[in-house]
Amino acid sequence: MMVRKVLIIGSGFAGTALALFLKRAGFDPEIYEARSALGVDAGAFLYLAPNGVKVLKELGLDRPLEQDGFPATGMVFYNQKGRRIGELDNRSDLERYGARGQVLKRAQIFRVLQGEVARQGIPVHYGRRLEGLEVLGQEGVVARFAGGTSAEGEVLVGADGINSSTRRIILPQSPGPRYTGLVDTGGFTFLPSLRAHSGPQHMIFGHKAFFGYVVRPSGEVYWFSNVPWAREPTREELKAIAPAVWKQRLLELHAGDPAPVVEIIRSTEAEGLGKWPLRDMPSLPAWHKGPVCLVGDAAHATSPSAGQGASLALEDAAVLAKCLRDIRGLEPALAAFQRLRKGRVEQVVRQSRRNGDLKIPHPVMGRVRDLLMPVFLRAAERAAQPIYGYTVDWEAPTPAPAVDGAELRV
Ligand SMILES: Cc1cc2nc3c(=O)[nH]c(=O)nc-3n(C[C@H](O)[C@H](O)[C@H](O)COP(=O)(O)OP(=O)(O)OC[C@H]3O[C@@H](n4cnc5c(N)ncnc54)[C@H](O)[C@@H]3O)c2cc1C
Repeated sequence: MMVRKVLIIGSGFAGTALALFLKRAGFDPEIYEARSALGVDAGAFLYLAPNGVKVLKELGLDRPLEQDGFPATGMVFYNQKGRRIGELDNRSDLERYGARGQVLKRAQIFRVLQGEVARQGIPVHYGRRLEGLEVLGQEGVVARFAGGTSAEGEVLVGADGINSSTRRIILPQSPGPRYTGLVDTGGFTFLPSLRAHSGPQHMIFGHKAFFGYVVRPSGEVYWFSNVPWAREPTREELKAIAPAVWKQRLLELHAGDPAPVVEIIRSTEAEGLGKWPLRDMPSLPAWHKGPVCLVGDAAHATSPSAGQGASLALEDAAVLAKCLRDIRGLEPALAAFQRLRKGRVEQVVRQSRRNGDLKIPHPVMGRVRDLLMPVFLRAAERAAQPIYGYTVDWEAPTPAPAVDGAELRV
């Protein structure tokens, strides 16, 4: 069967980038997104690492992103007393890895990706929530959406995030997301007095919660707090906390932490504070079944403590499009995609979880952490090299997997 029409479920990082790469490779992608066109822009900010920026560069989208975002020159870590306990220097990332990581608001990055999808005339159907699938033997697959509509294609890619419906449908026995013990919150404020702090991301191991902030040269502050919360709160529980009550709780949690933590929280509009339980995905037995495949968070969500989820989703998009372009037969192409990606991404998931565990305050371990921070950071720098250094060579053909277990390269 010649694959032409690819149904993509979800218009996040993986879905939009996959559509752009597939279109370039001569396929007919169509995106089906559960939310309304307006709803997709919601969210806070993220760090897009050099490996993710390189994928966008391949798509010709790095320039608009650099206009919206700004590079962080590194990370400086402080203990609860405000003592500097270590730092990472990212200033030579361009020379070392071929791109500089960018700090971006989600709304900005989606505007760029979705704008390019629209410019290239790729159909995006909003308000289509996938609810069911029907595999038509060798003929392809039918996607069924809430409300009774459907769509048919030769392949369906579930780029529908950590709560993936596609995953639940094709792998009903597979494990679901795992909670990390942290709830993320944060927002934006404007404090011209902090202009002198611009450059690196500042990371503070507070008395009761971890706090991070980065300042644009204009004085706009992007910040987050990782709040320890033993049992995973439900969406309803989090929604029931009024914004002013949540802000007050954060002020209490961070009372006594080094300046300017409290000042940043106090100056932020309570209504703008999001709340997200942080989770990741355990290893799945498979990422594909018949003509259906998972990408991005749907297959391998990572907690944000390695700053890699979006970059890995973008890498997936490029690699899957290459496999479909270069490898004869759908099943070998999807198998090659999984083989090329699984080891790499699952290593990042584990690393990110370890980073997150360090953020949970502990009276004894806190002191050990302070002492060992330079050692941790040297190890983190070494671990970052293959992660940031990864480049998908779009032009290079993807070899078909010759022997089971043989190593493939992109
Ligand atoms: C608080 C927080 C901070 C983060 N910070 C960073 C960071 O600094 N750096 C980084 O690289 N990563 C970060 N991440 C991770 C990053 O956001 C994800 O890894 C990334 O969004 C994954 O992209 P994706 O396209 O796979 O999924 P998503 O971006 O989740 O997109 C999935 C899309 O599918 C749609 N969808 C869902 N279900 C259906 C359905 N049934 N039918 C149709 N459509 C559906 C959704 O509406 C959504 O648009 C963070 C995550 C969180 C929660």
